[in-house]
Amino acid sequence: MRIPEDVANVLRTLSDAGYSAWCVGGCVRDLLLGRHPDDWDVTTAARPEETQRLFPGRAVPTGLHHGTVTVRTGLRPVEVTTYRRDGAYADHRHPDQVTFSDSLEEDLSRRDFTVNAMALGADGTVRDPFGGAADLAAGTLRCVGEPSVRFGEDALRILRCLRFAAVLGFSVEERTALALRRDRGLLTAVAAERIRTELVKLLTGVSAGEILLRYPDVIGVFLPELLPAVGFDQRNRHHCFDVWEHTVRSVEAAPPEPLLRMTLLLHDLGKPACFSVDEKGCGHFYGHPKVSWRIAQTVLERLRFDRREQGTILTLVANHDRNYPRTRVGALRALNALGEKNARLLLQIKRADNLAQAPEYRASGQAELDRFEVLMDEVLREDTCFSLRQLAVNGRDLTALGLSGPQVGQTLRALLDGVVEGRLANRRDALLAAAKQGVPGKSK
Ligand code: ATP
Ligand code: MG
Repeated sequence: MRIPEDVANVLRTLSDAGYSAWCVGGCVRDLLLGRHPDDWDVTTAARPEETQRLFPGRAVPTGLHHGTVTVRTGLRPVEVTTYRRDGAYADHRHPDQVTFSDSLEEDLSRRDFTVNAMALGADGTVRDPFGGAADLAAGTLRCVGEPSVRFGEDALRILRCLRFAAVLGFSVEERTALALRRDRGLLTAVAAERIRTELVKLLTGVSAGEILLRYPDVIGVFLPELLPAVGFDQRNRHHCFDVWEHTVRSVEAAPPEPLLRMTLLLHDLGKPACFSVDEKGCGHFYGHPKVSWRIAQTVLERLRFDRREQGTILTLVANHDRNYPRTRVGALRALNALGEKNARLLLQIKRADNLAQAPEYRASGQAELDRFEVLMDEVLREDTCFSLRQLAVNGRDLTALGLSGPQVGQTLRALLDGVVEGRLANRRDALLAAAKQGVPGKSK
């Protein structure tokens, strides 16, 4: 457990000049957990202009309003922030004013959770006025100070709490948990971008499933579309869980990639609205992928996911129930419809979705997906044509034959269908001849 030399040098430069300085927050927490901190934050008695003076040519005033100067060490940027106390919070999000302080303890007391409120000196001394090390050892997330006061000051802490619990695999201390549930409505004051960042981190955490199962009412403040799924009995032999628990188990079963986990979070939210029961008393959800797709559109837009992420997630949600083909032609059709990248992602979505179904359907479902993967690898290896890009003729060739306007695109699609289904060979002469005759190609 050590502070890297370049970071320790930043602490020494400050303390040699007479200003106390400590590593603080996430890096201390992660170091004590035996993990590799991503970034190193320093807190110091030096005012921002003094810090800038001590690191000539290496200091960038990145957040002077909050007292932050970024010092480049050659190996990494280190954020150096002056000890602070936060003023009153009027909007449940930002302190109205920030004032500098001379006290490390005061700076630690404004921090959100005890495990995030420890400081570590260059000589290895730990300052831990709120019992962060004990909470870290016990796996407990606890507010510094009175939970409802802290959540009332800054509502983002409510979601940060669940995020840290999911990422660290911790449980939330009882009073902190009670307060965050009671005050959950304050989350409506938080900007969508901040919600999205925390939600995505939460979803990729080791205990994401447990947190989602335990706190749907909190997540439901900014994602109310999930609430009908909670406790919704599927009445179907393929399912042993209600819609929400199935959703959560599928999230857990997927690799911790934001796109995959976000897709699974949304994939079945259309189910409650599509529910019907047949004459045997069996539940069905006909058309739910389309409804989930519409819900996903609203959610992704509201949480400001970027266009590319939206596109991928929406394609996966819309296609999650697609049957996987058993033949080469079927595999080519799927590749044609989705492209290789999305077809591979969809495979992972379907694996996770299947693992969250009733146990007796898991082995056969996974085996079917294995077969599709083999088939897909095969046709990809053979470089068999499944896309317009691979077709031996293009739009210019068809224009030269005298086709124009929408005819060109339609004919290209028809030729590609012919090739994918094996009616036409992917050769220029064969395709041009078929185009001249209005396509279909040899029958059977
Ligand atoms: P990570 O960077 O791994 O997500 P972190 O603990 O470093 O975790 P940051 O958001 O980088 O989290 O914040 C750094 C530190 O600043 C935290 O450890 C905490 O002490 C403090 N902090 C951050 N956000 C808040 C907040 N909203 N309220 C109170 N303290 C906060
Ligand atoms: Mg950090």
